[in-house]
Amino acid sequence: MRTSKLLIATLKETPADAEIVSHQLMLRAGLIRRLASGLYTWLPLGLRVLRKAEAIVREEMNQAGAQEVLMPSVQPAELWQESQRWEKYGPELLRITDRHQRDFCYGPTHEEVITDLVRQEIRSYKQLPVNFYQIQTKFRDEIRPRFGLMRAREFLMKDAYSFHVDQACLQKTYDQMHAAYCAIFNRIGVDFRPVQADTGSIGGNASHEFHVLASSGEDAIAFSTGSDYAANVELATAIKSDAVRAEPSADLATVSTPGKHSIEAVSDFLQVPAKQCVKTLLVEGTEENPVVALVLRGDHELNAIKAEKHPLVASPLTFATPEQVHAACGAQIGSVGPVGLHIPVIVDHAAAQLADFVCGANMDDHHFTGVNWLRDLPLPDSADIRNVVAGDPSPDGQGTLEIARGIEVGHIFQLGENYSKKMNAVVLTETGQSKIMTMGCYGIGVSRIVAAAIEQHHDEQGIIWPQAIAPFEVVLIPVNAHKSQRVRDQAETLYQELVDAGVDVVIDDRGLRPGVAFADWELIGIPHQLVLGERGLDNGVIEYKQRATGEKQDIAIAELVTTLT
Ligand code: ATP
Ligand code: MG
Ligand code: MG
Ligand code: MG
Repeated sequence: MRTSKLLIATLKETPADAEIVSHQLMLRAGLIRRLASGLYTWLPLGLRVLRKAEAIVREEMNQAGAQEVLMPSVQPAELWQESQRWEKYGPELLRITDRHQRDFCYGPTHEEVITDLVRQEIRSYKQLPVNFYQIQTKFRDEIRPRFGLMRAREFLMKDAYSFHVDQACLQKTYDQMHAAYCAIFNRIGVDFRPVQADTGSIGGNASHEFHVLASSGEDAIAFSTGSDYAANVELATAIKSDAVRAEPSADLATVSTPGKHSIEAVSDFLQVPAKQCVKTLLVEGTEENPVVALVLRGDHELNAIKAEKHPLVASPLTFATPEQVHAACGAQIGSVGPVGLHIPVIVDHAAAQLADFVCGANMDDHHFTGVNWLRDLPLPDSADIRNVVAGDPSPDGQGTLEIARGIEVGHIFQLGENYSKKMNAVVLTETGQSKIMTMGCYGIGVSRIVAAAIEQHHDEQGIIWPQAIAPFEVVLIPVNAHKSQRVRDQAETLYQELVDAGVDVVIDDRGLRPGVAFADWELIGIPHQLVLGERGLDNGVIEYKQRATGEKQDIAIAELVTTLT
C-alpha cells in the first residue's frame, strides 16, 4: 500500500471531547471519525485494524466448529414479544416502525432471531449440537455513549448461539468457547482475565466475562492472590452480601419498608438482581407520598443508569468533578468509601424540600450531584457495607482478593431453556419425544477490543499496535526522496521486494519533512519502521526502528527481506 492511495488523517491536537486515551488516539491517528453521538465511521487505516481483529475471531470460531451465518440487523417486534423482551428491554432497544405501521427494532443482540431460525430448521436431536455465529453491526441506544467505540451505540459484535439436547452437551461447547476466547485474545495480543459473572435475571446456569485489564475500564473485577478465583465485582459482592445477609441487622429491618418499595419491587422494576439492591429506605413521607432512598451496589454508572429509569427520580443524575464535590460537601476524593459502595439516593422531589447534595461514587470524577439527601439519614455503618473490597478473603477460601479495573470485551453465557422454552424451540429425541433445546450464547465486542488494545498498548507518542492487528506490520519511509533519485529508486525496489515477499508493508510516498512523517508513524503505531536515506545508502544499510522499544539498528539492504520474513 502507498500513502498516496491511503487517507492518512492524523491530528496534532487532542480532541477536547475525547476523555480516554484510546478514544483520543483513534481520532488522532485517523482511525475513526464521529458522525453523531455513539456513531463512528471507520477510516481506511482503522478499518484494516478492525478487519484483522475480525479475521482472528472468525478463524478461531471456525476452528472451534461454529458455523458462520449473517442475520438481518432489523428484527420484527413479534419475535421480541414472544420472548417477552419487547417490554423488558427498555430504552436501549431502538424501535422503528415501517410504512405499514409494523413494529421492528434494530438488533442489540440476536437470541430471538437465531432461536426462530433453529426452531424451523432443526428437527432432530441428531442434528445437535449446533453453534451459529455472525460478525455484525449491533445497535444499542446507550444512555451515555462515551469513550468512542468503547461504548458506542452502533458497534461490531461477534455473537454466537449454540443449541443442545441437554446441559452436559451445552457445558462441552461452553468450555470450547471459553478456550476459543482465550485463544482469540491471546492472538490479538491483549492482557486479559476471564472472570465469573452473575447470571442475573436471565437465570441461566453459568457465565464468564473476559476483561482486558486497564485502569480506564468501566468494570471492576476481583481476583484471588491465592488461587485461580476471579469474578466480576458484582458477583463477588453478591457472594459477600449473601454471607452478611445471613445475619440480619435490626437496624435495617426498622427502616426497610414492605410493599411497593420493597427490594423485590425495586429489583423487579429496575431489572437488577434483588441481591444487587442492598436496601430501599423509606426515609420520609408516607406510603402514598414517599421519599425513597435506594442503595445499590456494583457498577455505579450502571446503577445510575438504572436509577434514572425509576419513577421516583425527579431529574437525571449528573456527575461532578472532585473539586465540585469538595466545594459542595468538603469531601476529599478517595475518602468517600470503599470500592463498589454506591449510593444513588432517589427521592421524590415533590414530597421533600431538601438541599441538593453530592454523594460519592468512589471513582475520580464520578460523583452524583443534584441528589437530595435527608441530612439525618444514617449512612450505612461498616457492618452494612457488603461490597467486596481489596483484602477480603477469597470466596474459595484461598488467599485474599485484589480488585482491578477491566474492559468487558467478551461474555459467554449458559442460557439454558430461557429463550427456547418461551419460543418453543424443540427437537425430537431418540425416543420420539419432543424436547426443549438448551442454549448458550457467546459475544465479543470486536470494535471494543480495538479500543481496549490501544488502552493497553500506547505511549506518549501514540499507539503501539500488537503486531496481529496493526494496520500495517511495516512502514517504509524514504527520507528526502524528492531530492534524491537514488533514494526514490531504492525505496521503490525495496517496497516491491517486500510486497512480493508477502510483507504487510506501507510506503510513505507523501514527501513530507522527515520529522513530520516520523511523528505520524509513531502516532499510528506501526510495529516496524524502516527509514531509507542518502547516508544509509552510502553504507548499503537501512535504519530499522522497533516502535515498541524504540530500539534502532542498521540492516544491510541486501538482507532486508530475509531479516523481515
Ligand atoms: P457492557 O456491560 O459494557 O454494557 P454488555 O454486558 O451490555 O456490555 P453484552 O450484552 O454482554 O454487553 O454484549 C457482548 C459484548 O459486546 C460485550 O462483552 C462488549 O464487548 C460488547 N459491547 C456491548 N455493548 C457495547 C457498546 N455499547 N459498545 C461497544 N461494544 C459493546
Ligand atoms: Mg450493556
Ligand atoms: Mg456487561
Ligand atoms: Mg455482558
